[in-house]
Amino acid sequence: MARIIGPSCRLCRREGDKLFLKGYRCQTDKCAVTKRQVTPGQHGASQKRKKTSNYEQQLRMKQRVKRIYGVLEKQFKNYFKAADRSKGVTGEILLQLLERRVDNAVFRASFAESRARARQLVRHRYVKVNGRKVDVPSYQLKAGDAVELVGTDAQIKTLKEVHKSLEDRLKPDWMDIDSEKLTFKVKSLPARKDVDMAIQENLIVELYSK
Ligand code: SF4
Repeated sequence: MARIIGPSCRLCRREGDKLFLKGYRCQTDKCAVTKRQVTPGQHGASQKRKKTSNYEQQLRMKQRVKRIYGVLEKQFKNYFKAADRSKGVTGEILLQLLERRVDNAVFRASFAESRARARQLVRHRYVKVNGRKVDVPSYQLKAGDAVELVGTDAQIKTLKEVHKSLEDRLKPDWMDIDSEKLTFKVKSLPARKDVDMAIQENLIVELYSK
């Protein structure tokens, strides 16, 4: 299954902001964005440009969201088409579809330090939804779904340690998390207020509506 590969920090530097793609490292002084505010490239050339066109702002916002959720172009466009076909505010539904991905939910429940690690847990069959193993990271959760992490005693011990190390992280309102059992229940579908990253989804809608 296709996924974004290559140096994650370079993606953050390209967007000029922390996208939190690497888990623990993102909170430390080793973060490439914290260390040097320069865009990638031989001379960090694009950062010298002062004015950005509407199109560039829209494009950068789309790239930012794709990178945060680890989604490639074709799949992202499919999410947009699905959101556009649905009733409601297209941009908000787009974000809801991304939030409902099972890899994102495992990350948001603080069962993994990054979305990339959460994706790996799903791919390696550590995740059950309603009692059945799910190994597709894009699997869409719905209200009422029960998610649990499974593995050997040693694996569960390690996963619990990771969860404990992330206890300061803000827990989303749309899930009920049981830290002892490493399970969570989807109380309701995620709303716009549950997306805590700096995202202007209207720019993405404008880009695709051209
Ligand atoms: Fe981005 Fe994290 Fe790398 Fe910092 S450490 S540049 S936030 S991926």
